[in-house]
Amino acid sequence: MNYEGVLTKMQTENGSPIQYYLLFKHDFINVNQLLDKKVSISFQRYQCLNCGLQKKVYRQGFCYDCFFEIPQAAAWIISPEKSKAHLGIEDRDLAYEEKVQLQPHVVYLANSSSVKVGVTRKTQIPTRWIDQGAHEAIEIVEVPNRYLAGITEIALKDFVSDKTNWRAMLKNDIKDEDLVAWRNKLKQYIPAEAAEYYLENNLETNLQFPVIKYPEKPKSLNLLKTPFYEGILKGIKGQYLIFEDDTVFNVRSNEGSVVSITVN
Ligand SMILES: [Zn+2]
Repeated sequence: MNYEGVLTKMQTENGSPIQYYLLFKHDFINVNQLLDKKVSISFQRYQCLNCGLQKKVYRQGFCYDCFFEIPQAAAWIISPEKSKAHLGIEDRDLAYEEKVQLQPHVVYLANSSSVKVGVTRKTQIPTRWIDQGAHEAIEIVEVPNRYLAGITEIALKDFVSDKTNWRAMLKNDIKDEDLVAWRNKLKQYIPAEAAEYYLENNLETNLQFPVIKYPEKPKSLNLLKTPFYEGILKGIKGQYLIFEDDTVFNVRSNEGSVVSITVN
């Protein structure tokens, strides 16, 4: 079977195990069904996820011009504390910013390699945790807008990491943490503006990834250096495809690449 299209991050459905899907314009792949099969990935060209032109992807699947212009790539996406829609202040497009920022957001703890703090829209739970390859996670606060989530994350970063070690995550070099205890310990550092939104009764969510064999020394596939790769798919974790020879392919960081995928 052969599929071709522009890569966007895999869609997911929580379950035992999590189900992963690649969506192309004309094709739809349940990636779990490719496990133990020989899969090839061949780079064709770029296609910006916004303008659709064949221009080199700069970041987040967007070409350079789109990245510096469109509201979907503004700084407050990566740095939620820079959100200003709650003050009625426009960054790039106030209507878009109000729609995305002025909705319930969650600050959470997720354990993918070690415990880290993060922010997401409430509707993105557990999607965001799955995308990070977290095997367990818990909510800390649920606030009415992105700004409050951002300042809470900043305050908690002094006491817990905000980074994922992707190699450790893929090797499954992990330990079980008591996230309820972490949350209770961090409660005292939540900023005053967000304190009333603390969630004290939530329990950990545990996630189960479809992996047959974890890599020992993960090597990341770079389609620019290796425009054709073929291997046996052995797992999916976070947004990574894991192959038998320890090659790993980060689908999300290749958004905007048009690829041809063949399954034998
Ligand atoms: Zn573009």
